[in-house]
Amino acid sequence: MRTRFLLFVLFVFTASSARAQTIAVRAGNLFDPGKGTVAKDQTILVKSGTIVEVGANLDIPRDAEIMDLSKSWVMPGLMDAHTHITEGQRNWELELSYLYEDSAYRALRGLKTAQVLLNAGITTVRDVGNDANYAAVDLRKAINQGWFTGPTILTAGKIIGPFGGQSSGASVEMGPYWRFEYIDADGPDEISKAVRQNVFYGVDLIKLVADSSRSHYTLEEIRTAVEVAHSAGLAVAVHVVESEPAKNVILGGADSIEHGFFLSDEVLHLMKEKGTVLVGTDFPSEHLVAGGQDTPEKAKALGNTIVERLRRAYRIGVKMAFGTDIVVDLPNKTRADMTWDYLAVWRAAGVPAAEILKCMTTNAAELRGSTSSAEQLCRVLLLTLSPHL
Ligand SMILES: [Zn+2]
Repeated sequence: MRTRFLLFVLFVFTASSARAQTIAVRAGNLFDPGKGTVAKDQTILVKSGTIVEVGANLDIPRDAEIMDLSKSWVMPGLMDAHTHITEGQRNWELELSYLYEDSAYRALRGLKTAQVLLNAGITTVRDVGNDANYAAVDLRKAINQGWFTGPTILTAGKIIGPFGGQSSGASVEMGPYWRFEYIDADGPDEISKAVRQNVFYGVDLIKLVADSSRSHYTLEEIRTAVEVAHSAGLAVAVHVVESEPAKNVILGGADSIEHGFFLSDEVLHLMKEKGTVLVGTDFPSEHLVAGGQDTPEKAKALGNTIVERLRRAYRIGVKMAFGTDIVVDLPNKTRADMTWDYLAVWRAAGVPAAEILKCMTTNAAELRGSTSSAEQLCRVLLLTLSPHL
């Protein structure tokens, strides 16, 4: 199965006027990524923006608008579970953006990127921080108001981490400038407060960084973040790349590990046992090299490590969701082009196409927590797939 499937795209439920209608979609081939099955000649009945029924012989209300996709392939919209849509730098010196770009500019870049992704078939993005001063929260509000067309945006707001955020260092005189995008939180009390600050400002999930400095979050700190976030109905995503700090993240009850490039088989087995989702942000080597992530040799080596970790995670049976983590734009490529480049990494790791689609749809949707699956369907976007898959 080839993965070039963007023949054309229809989106039907983003405009508020459409939400009030009943729509019957005739789907010639309906792909269910959760089960990995294709059902022929199905009807999808949508009322007031929500899918209410799917089946072969449904009674279609007289006033329903019929959308005839009987010669097409139909599936749920794709999700990217790890984006930074307000970022768009030329290199990995992301801190420079604090100097040159304010939150309004970042929000407008986010709108442009969100629309590029939506038009490519990505109907939901899980934006995991680095959005200036809650710029992605404001962007989400504007799209949800119907002011602009855009995907469903889930946003983490400010990233919570040990003192220093993900800054690589700063002079004492400069002060904690990283707080433009991070909340310093050390110990359970500060972590509770940081989670609640983000909840107050309207985030949809909580993002922590566990091992960006030499001092890692403890089990107690992770547990506290999870407890406070879950009590507010929010999932917890944690940046962690090494095995030892990942154990605290998994045992502390986090919902997902972001990146996890150097996880051992032992840790991957623990993730499987505990149901922790891996959002591997499986960078293509060429992106790492072109983005100047490190020397070309080190960037290539990291690319190879990522393929091997993805292969092991799939073989072990870790639950995974597709995520990109694109923050550096490459010349002559849209964000959508760059997103599809990741599929080559998944194929190189031996993950079958149906499983990749599952990681891009139902697995990613489950990460959204208990309140989200209905919303996922509300703003579903139907893709008509190439008959030559
Ligand atoms: Zn990221």
